[in-house]
Amino acid sequence: MARQLSLHDAIRSLPPRVARQYRVVPLSRDAQGAVFGAVDPHDWRLESVLSRHADGPFRVVGIAQGALEQALQSWYGPTGDLHDFIQSQPSQRGASLRLGDALNSAGAVRFVELMIRAALSERASDIHLDPGRGKPRLRFRLDGILVERPAPTAELAQRATSHIKALCSMDLGSCTYAQDGQFSFSGADGAVDVRVSVLPTDQREVTVLRLLTDEIGRRTLAGLGMPPRVQQLMEMIAGSPHGLVIIAGPTGAGKTTTLHAVLRLVDASTRNVVSIEDPIEIRSPDIRQVPVRRNAGLDFANALRAVVRQDPDVILVGETRDAETAGLVVQSSLAGHLVFTTVHANDCPAIFQRFSELGASRTILAETTRAVLSQRLLRLCCPLCAGNGCFPCEGSGLRGRQAVYECMPIEGRVESLVAHSKRPAEILAAARDAGFRTMEEHAAELVAERRTTAAEVRRVLGRSGP
Ligand SMILES: [Zn+2]
Repeated sequence: MARQLSLHDAIRSLPPRVARQYRVVPLSRDAQGAVFGAVDPHDWRLESVLSRHADGPFRVVGIAQGALEQALQSWYGPTGDLHDFIQSQPSQRGASLRLGDALNSAGAVRFVELMIRAALSERASDIHLDPGRGKPRLRFRLDGILVERPAPTAELAQRATSHIKALCSMDLGSCTYAQDGQFSFSGADGAVDVRVSVLPTDQREVTVLRLLTDEIGRRTLAGLGMPPRVQQLMEMIAGSPHGLVIIAGPTGAGKTTTLHAVLRLVDASTRNVVSIEDPIEIRSPDIRQVPVRRNAGLDFANALRAVVRQDPDVILVGETRDAETAGLVVQSSLAGHLVFTTVHANDCPAIFQRFSELGASRTILAETTRAVLSQRLLRLCCPLCAGNGCFPCEGSGLRGRQAVYECMPIEGRVESLVAHSKRPAEILAAARDAGFRTMEEHAAELVAERRTTAAEVRRVLGRSGP
């Protein structure tokens, strides 16, 4: 594993013009020196070109053209621009705010734009701009993990926060209470909604931006990593008139993305598809999406009551977390609707326990539930360095994610046990006889195929890992 990678040093050591011309990028640095990745590692010119730029010994390994494009795009594109901009800023002196200084506020506008462009090009889900204790931090969330990016000066960070608040029409005068907002950013591939949260800390305000890109919302079940057998079952259920599908997993496990991919299998031209979400993160043109608005009295339960009066065929209830919603979810599916929902539970057998705790009858649950699923997101081995660690994957050896699933159809003996047995182990045993495979087994398969690592599986699936 590569240690102490300095991205900026590496980028500075090899100018973008040279990188493009010779199709080579800096990958990492280890005890033997710098490692470069080249599309044609045997190109005779590389030796002399790289010896002028590498600081000490180096070697060249082969990488795919696609991987090179990705690295050039990320590191010499928007992220490189962000680095250059930060470097060009005068270092902070006392961080006094000179309000009305047009040049400074133009700098903040430029910084916010470069920051969002860089995050989008790196496929980050969130941007964290943190004032720190006199030393600001900028971090991007990539594949679920926060990674450091070049930090602005305290003054620039504060101006950027003000600019972001202005974009969302927030109260600019106040730094004493939490504020939420949203604005639209025009990125390279069209407009992107940015959801903003500003929270005052004992220092200054922390700003978190969530980038609601369409990219993930367009992924198919196969693209998300769902095994073919489970896909076939979801296709069948999506075409049926009624029933209930419950999906379990912690926050950030990709449950909503899976449900939206399943909803896209429903023929929305002939059926009324309605979702209730908190908040809406994936916009689907074919379905009616209702955001939960608690301060307007519209929680999941109230929204669901209103939705069933709108002649729905298919309903997505973003999350079932209280007894009232659980009751309504089960009732709606019994009343002839096809209902999808998520619940906080660890695995498939735990879903029934959770619904029982919320007051749902086991007999009715067994009758109406067509399938339960559980999922987690695993980071995949980096395509640039095949797991050895390089600059683009921050030395982790992992880049990009896919889901691992377990899916339990509720039929036959499993159905009668869901109705009558209180023991999850008994339900699990019956499901296994019918071919049930756990998330751990799905994950072990990815490890065997060298698509992810055993350490990543342990990180995500914990003690229950293989
Ligand atoms: Zn890598």
